[in-house]
Amino acid sequence: MASCPIAALNLCRKNWIICGKVVAKSEIKQWSNLNGNGCFFNFVIADNTGCIKAIAFNIQCERFFQSVTLNNTYYITNGTVRETKKQFMELSNAYEIHLYSNAQITLAEDVVVKEPECKFIKIADLSDTPANELINIICVVKNVEDLEEYGIDKVNYKRNVVLIDDSESEVKLTLWNEKAQRFDCKEGCIIIAKRLKVSDYNGKNLMAIDVSHLEIDPDAPETATLKDWFFKHGTKMSKNRLTLEPKKINLQTIKKINSSVNVHCDATLIEIKACNFYVSCPDGCNKKLIEDESGLLYCDACKKVMMEGNQKLVLKVKIADFTASIDLTIYSEIIEALLKCKCEQLSILEMENRFDFESKFHRSLVLHMFAFDIKIKMVTRDGILCPEYIRIK
Ligand SMILES: [Zn+2]
Repeated sequence: MASCPIAALNLCRKNWIICGKVVAKSEIKQWSNLNGNGCFFNFVIADNTGCIKAIAFNIQCERFFQSVTLNNTYYITNGTVRETKKQFMELSNAYEIHLYSNAQITLAEDVVVKEPECKFIKIADLSDTPANELINIICVVKNVEDLEEYGIDKVNYKRNVVLIDDSESEVKLTLWNEKAQRFDCKEGCIIIAKRLKVSDYNGKNLMAIDVSHLEIDPDAPETATLKDWFFKHGTKMSKNRLTLEPKKINLQTIKKINSSVNVHCDATLIEIKACNFYVSCPDGCNKKLIEDESGLLYCDACKKVMMEGNQKLVLKVKIADFTASIDLTIYSEIIEALLKCKCEQLSILEMENRFDFESKFHRSLVLHMFAFDIKIKMVTRDGILCPEYIRIK
């Protein structure tokens, strides 16, 4: 039977056989949903007309995973062509092949398959490339960052690699799990990367996904020229960095705080200057209640007298960074979050055991560094308008 071109596969075609080269292969992954759980892997098979993703679940995953090898050529028959769900469509192919129990994969030993021509782009052109697009690049490794571990139930791995090319631009590539662990490449290595996904996170970024394939120091004509360029010019600071460093918005030093907008700064709480309890109006208005001679509470805003209100706390503290220090007011919600204790309980503790109360504040707050979100409020004190700093988050 003559094999069918991969680009001609569709839902109506029956009894087809395709012959192609495996150009990408995923690791074994787990799936779970309401129907249960299991494992799967996928690979991309290409001939000179195009490429398609093939997926094998559970028993078929175990059956095919070892025998499907990257860069080998195979015949596939009796697979089931399915429409690819749009949100999972990575290749520019609307279909994918599911491999069920009758599917057959056989090695095509003497067949030479040419992949479709790959269009390579320069890193500088990524700035005009929309997110989620798959691109191919030939570039040099400028820097390899350490392997990062994350995750709670299952350990995952991540590694960032800085890539550069002779468009004098650099971009970060993120590798996950096995690809991140296995990446063994030094500064100056040439990479041919196919089907990397473009992302817009922090400027432009590249991600290696299942269908991606990296070839390191390939035997290609561009390799020598690019290596040469890199060691002459590329090791210097590049003009055009497409991936931005993750930034903290508006991070300021204390000395520079002078506007009336909210600012963010990292600072150390160095002193608790005052700690005052008060009772607020419980009817959603939250105004401070005034206690009269008879012990009744009065809300000036609601014009109401009441027996009890909500226990609140206000702290005046001094915070400092390497540039200056300021006095800051911190209100109940933040204090409760920092001390993991409700104002009512703090009030009881203050009355019953002053020493424990104070030591709780000192242990949890003093000489600790926090990321402060500060709002500046202008208040009049002794007839002079001056700023009051309030911790807002
Ligand atoms: Zn009120």
